[in-house]
Amino acid sequence: IRNVSKIYQSAGQGLTVLDNINFSIAPASTVAITGPSGSGKTTLLGLCAGLDRASSGTVELNGIALEKLSEDERAAVRNQYVGFIFQNFQLLPTLTALENVMVPLELRGAKNIKSVAMELLDKVGLADRAQHYPVQLSGGEQQRVSLARAFSNQPAILFADEPTGNLDAETSEKIIRLIFDLNRDAGTTLVIVTHDLELAARTGRTIKIKGGAIFSDENVSYA
Ligand code: ATP
Repeated sequence: IRNVSKIYQSAGQGLTVLDNINFSIAPASTVAITGPSGSGKTTLLGLCAGLDRASSGTVELNGIALEKLSEDERAAVRNQYVGFIFQNFQLLPTLTALENVMVPLELRGAKNIKSVAMELLDKVGLADRAQHYPVQLSGGEQQRVSLARAFSNQPAILFADEPTGNLDAETSEKIIRLIFDLNRDAGTTLVIVTHDLELAARTGRTIKIKGGAIFSDENVSYA
């Protein structure tokens, strides 16, 4: 990320949410992004993952400059390299848990989509909920489906926005373990937005955002 700024336009006014952000994240590392509510963390994660475009500056993912790409090209880069766990899960309401996990596999043209998706659901402990629709799942279960979906394209980098927000301590620990296992077993780079300082301390580095700028950037691992 080089000299990245993001200005949202609303009601004819520009709101600068990120102001000249610079950092790089090493492959296979684990990073937490923390900071007060409204400081721009979700916006930053979306820019890093190619979900949205910076107003100025450069975002490179695996050496690919995202701002030069069309929407479709960015989507292709995301499908190839990125897993994303959204704050509000963003499961497709008209699809079952299993079908939600199948979507990225289909997009990638993978084989044996159904059995691979089933394996992923099993991994997050939800094989018995495969035919449930999102509305029939608890918050923690929806979060685990969203995790299985994010794993499905074996991402080089996983972005997680508050992956444990609103979950009980036990479910939260299960999800954290699954995420960190990806890093340990497959070398997946983890970038996690969180308010949970204990979770942040389990990563190798914490970037603190305040008022749209980097307030601190430290290695604070106690692991
Ligand atoms: P939280 O911890 O509460 O989730 P955050 O640090 O992730 O907050 P963002 O969601 O990135 O913060 O939002 C940063 C600021 O940008 C907020 O003030 C928000 O109101 C504003 N904002 C976010 N999205 C838009 C948008 N699409 N249009 C206009 N303003 C927006």
